[in-house]
Parts: sequence; C-alpha cells; structure tokens
Amino acid sequence: MTIRIPFNKPSIVGSELIYVGQAVAGGHASGDGPFTRRAEAALAESFGAKRVLLTTSCTSALEMAALLCDLKPGDEVIVPSYTFVSTANAFVLRGATPVFVDVRPDTLNIDERLIEQAITPRTRAIFPVHYGGVACEMDTIMDIANRHGLLVVEDAAQGVPARYKDRALGTIGHLGCYSFHETKNISCGEGGALVVNDPSLELRAEILREKGTNRSQYMRGEVDKYTWVDVGSSYVLSDMLAAFLLGQIESMDKITRRRGEIFDRYASILAPLVERGLIRIPEVPQHCTTSYHMFYVLTADIEERTALAAHLRAAGVLAVFHYVPLHSSPFARSLGTPQETLPQTEDLSARLLRLPMYFDLTDWEVEEVAGHVLDFYRSRSGIQA
Ligand SMILES: *Cc1c(COP(=O)(O)O)cnc(C)c1O
Repeated sequence: MTIRIPFNKPSIVGSELIYVGQAVAGGHASGDGPFTRRAEAALAESFGAKRVLLTTSCTSALEMAALLCDLKPGDEVIVPSYTFVSTANAFVLRGATPVFVDVRPDTLNIDERLIEQAITPRTRAIFPVHYGGVACEMDTIMDIANRHGLLVVEDAAQGVPARYKDRALGTIGHLGCYSFHETKNISCGEGGALVVNDPSLELRAEILREKGTNRSQYMRGEVDKYTWVDVGSSYVLSDMLAAFLLGQIESMDKITRRRGEIFDRYASILAPLVERGLIRIPEVPQHCTTSYHMFYVLTADIEERTALAAHLRAAGVLAVFHYVPLHSSPFARSLGTPQETLPQTEDLSARLLRLPMYFDLTDWEVEEVAGHVLDFYRSRSGIQA
C-alpha cells in the first residue's frame, strides 16, 4: 500500500520563494546578509530574546552551547534519555559525560524532581528538552541550577513558538536552541538558531560561529582587522535559507493556528478512546502554551503500538515513533555511563505513536487518520466509539 497521508510534508505558507529570489538577486547568498539580520530580529522581537544567531541546524546551536559552557572531559551534564541524539552528542563531542534523568509521565519532559539527586561535584550543566513544544518546569530547573552554579541550555527544537508562564521557550535558560529542520513547525529545510540569554556569552558566541574569528566585530567597525581569536567552526546559515526562513517566521501565527486546529480535531475525535482509558494524548499544563509540534497517542503496550502503526500503514497513513532511549543505546553503553534504569522513559518510549501533523494536512485527512485509529480500537476492544 502506498502512503497517501505522509507523516510530514514541507509547505510554502507566505513569501518564502519571493525572498529567496531577492536574496540571490541581491548578490548576498552567503551568511549574515540582509535576510539573516531580518530573520534574527524578527525572532528576537517575537520571543523577547536578547540575541538570536541563525545557525546551520539546532545540532550546530547545541554544539555552540556546549563550547560556550566550556564543557570538558570529566564534566557531567544532566539530560533526559528520551530525546534526539543531538542533545547529548553536542557535549559528548567535548568529552563531557551524559547523566540521564527520567521523564515525567504527563509531559514526557525531564522530571525536575529527579534532577537534584543526579547532581555531583562534576556536574556543570543541565540540558532540558521541551518535548513536543510543551515546556519543562523551568522555574524549578533554574532554581536548582542557580543554587548549584550550573548552566542551563534549553533544547527548544520543538518549542517554536511555545511559552512557559508567558516566557518564550529558549529564552529562560542561559542559552536556548531552535531547529528549523523540515520536520519542525517553522522551517527552511535545514537550519537552527542559538538564543543567547546571558549577555556575558554573546561575544564568544559570535566568534565560535564565525570560525573562531572576530569577523562580527570587524563588520561592526569595532576592530580594524579580523583574525583568529578562538576555536570555532562554520555555523553560519546561508542568507538564501534565512530568506526562506523569514517567509515562514512572518507566517508563524498562521502556521501555529493551523497546527492547533489539527491538534484539537484529533483530540476531539479521539476523546472517546481517552475517556475509556484506551489511549492517552498530549497534556498541556495550564501555565504552558504549546507550539502544537506533535500529536501522539500512548497505547497500552508495545504490541498494541506495532499493530496500530501497521493498521494505519495498511490504510496508507504513515505514523511514526521515536526515540530509542539514549541510555540504552549502544553508544551510551560504550561510554561506560552507569546503566541506570529509567522506568518512565522505557515504558513511554515503547508506547508512543505520532500521527501525521503538518500545515497542509486537511480537516478531511485528519478525520480519516483519526477514523482509522477509532476503527482499530473498535475492532480490538469491541467498543462502540
Ligand atoms: C530536531 C531536533 C534536534 C535537531 O535539530 P536539527 O536542526 O535537525 O539539528 C535536536 N533536538 C530535538 C529535541 C529535536 O527535536
């Protein structure tokens, strides 16, 4: 059976292609051109961020964050195991050791009540991940970090544009990281941003991003030549991609509104299954607004998830699951990190299935997908939903 309803699809929502044309015609296709400036300013304004730097990916932004935290071999970093590999690789590249902490059963975010007991004299930083665009308990996390002198790097790859107590995700920790990958809400194919919230890190962030040179200061006329001053790499996004991104940023409200409609429609059609306790769907705490990054269902067990995914696949619908918990991965084991058991992570990661979610998904398609989920449980449980 061919896939008729994919899991994700990129979309053109506003002026993306016009801006890309202008970027090329304007003669500045490399990084830090006019569209990079506009995209960074638009993000900073919309999120109330002090400084936003566009990067080639969220992975790059996380790597810059690990460099800015000065992480070294022997240092420990507290991170959820239930996340994308880049969150951990960023600081493992610096030789630091991940200390995995279990997630909360309601939001699947790092369980803030378990963080303090994971702190040792070697702990340097906490990398919380806002899963699905629903915020971690940032007040508690920042309080712990401040009391123990730790840096906080928010992986807000999925959190554009979401809020925690009316503060944009990515702007609460010392540093924040966004993703503009094709699968994220706001996209330019591949792209990301580093949000620098601690002003003392800003100059070094510019230098790391500019291959270890002070080119940014030179361009502002602050120094009379530019030269090699630190380590660094090529983390600058092309202005052509920044142009595409600006078109999406300007359409951010429209994109979020549509994703919210899709989310609510899934939730209302599947409500009878939730009421009967057959599945769970994402929960958004009162004090958070979500980016509606994803809609998932939590099945009873892994066999049920496999059967539901196969049922949808047979109907031409692609539903996917993630993440294989990092702490149980071959690479984490080779690092010799203590083999913790993380009961919530192990349980939830085996039961989660993500349904199609993208801007161009139609109401009719949402109804079809949700209808197949209802059918699956009707035939399985004999319920009259
Ligand atoms: C997508 C994602 C990343 C990586 O983003 P890229 O822009 O592809 O590098 C990192 N962390 C999380 C939680 C993500 O969802």
